[in-house]
Amino acid sequence: MHNIHVIGGGLAGSEAAWQLAEAGFTVRLSEMRGLLPTPAHHSDRLAELVCSNSFRSDDAERNAVGLLHAEMRALGSLILRCADQHRVPAGSALAVDRDGYAEAVTAAIEAHPRITLVRERVEALPHGPAIIATGPLTAAPLAEAIAAETGQDQLAFFDAIAPIVHRDSIDMDICWFQSRWNKGDGKDYINCPMNREQYEAFVEALLTGEKTEFKEWERDTPYFEGCMPIEVMAARGRETLRHGPMKPVGLDDPRTGRWPHAVVQLRQDNALGSLWNIVGFQTKLKHAEQVRVFRMIPGLERAEFARLGGLHRNTFIRSPVLLDGALRLRSRPHIRFAGQITGCEGYVESAAIGLLAGRFAAAELAGGALPPPPTTTALGALLGHITGGAEADLYQPMNVNFGLFPALEGVPRKADRKALLSARAVADLAGWQGAAATG
Ligand code: FAD
Repeated sequence: MHNIHVIGGGLAGSEAAWQLAEAGFTVRLSEMRGLLPTPAHHSDRLAELVCSNSFRSDDAERNAVGLLHAEMRALGSLILRCADQHRVPAGSALAVDRDGYAEAVTAAIEAHPRITLVRERVEALPHGPAIIATGPLTAAPLAEAIAAETGQDQLAFFDAIAPIVHRDSIDMDICWFQSRWNKGDGKDYINCPMNREQYEAFVEALLTGEKTEFKEWERDTPYFEGCMPIEVMAARGRETLRHGPMKPVGLDDPRTGRWPHAVVQLRQDNALGSLWNIVGFQTKLKHAEQVRVFRMIPGLERAEFARLGGLHRNTFIRSPVLLDGALRLRSRPHIRFAGQITGCEGYVESAAIGLLAGRFAAAELAGGALPPPPTTTALGALLGHITGGAEADLYQPMNVNFGLFPALEGVPRKADRKALLSARAVADLAGWQGAAATG
């Protein structure tokens, strides 16, 4: 009998199992690959990277994901240790030899005396202490069991991701705050006006821009009318967008006092107000094309994107309502969730949430409780997004980025904010670790 059951030997599950075992607890780790494939993995190795071989920027001073690497290293991450051991040249990014890296993770887990790796597909919710880390391609029987428990009946669907823009890169000499017909508090949206020529050029760019193709297994998954790609909508007719997401009615451009020909709206995306998503702009345009085409929007010429749009099959739960601050399922607190199924996005973020879930569970098995890391750290900011930062209805997967961090107070305008945010995170993580060790 093991102390805890970790389901899914991907990035999150491997990291969670490692953290628990290193804390002295016995773990049953269930992984179905080796027995059954997923539509995207190619091997039976643990923590396989399904697509790119990059863990993205390793710059801990000016990049939020690089900072997350540093924090994970400080907490003894198995995934980061194996990635560092199998690093390949990639400038300031942490890219790995994918086979060497995944073999190293698998060997470390298999060799750990307190982890039992079982090749099996789990089909029901566990009754004892457990972490579910089955990822974006969670096998159907378990996905159905989760849906039955949570009441969310749309677990496997196209994840419609609209681009997210940093607020301070929007030109407010061109854009203005206003809700349609001044409803609500009247300032819930940022509006970007377009005249007829700009609108027509924009529609043309959407139609001719280079798109990403659907993968074979994605073709069978329907998308809902509500997450139709913007370019698919544009292809229905030149005026379709003006009657849909780019509708100008009820929006008075303060520079003319009139409704523009078309309007692109952005809506606040995080509680801090530092990130804004482009409403209705989910897209299959390639990333470089998105930057080019969306910078044609008046006011977004110098937009910096915290995340670009996309559309792919994904499985994630509405964590802000379903999970508590320690990643426990509110309705069955013996079960935690970790990894992409919680609604984080990316290899590093998934492993990071696995690390936290493992540490939270270990503290609980030891009869205590681990407070969450401060929201000023990359781990804490990401956890905050998952368990409470976003409104449940708008909840969408998110990479870690500095927009999730609380702002710095009293810092001169020209200060190097990223470096200051990173320095604050390093100090606060050390304080949290110190308190956890003595507490
Ligand atoms: P996974 O790594 O998917 O691990 C989940 C594991 O659970 C799998 O090994 C699976 O076999 C197992 N499992 C599922 N159901 C069961 C069950 N019922 N019983 C037992 N085992 C089960 N992120 C990036 O950062 N860069 C990319 O380039 C990238 N490309 C992607 C491409 C695709 C097609 C997809 C789907 C995702 C991509 N992602 C990418 C996101 C990526 O999946 C996640 O970042 C990461 O793999 C998620 O980690 P995880 O541990 O949550 O899930």
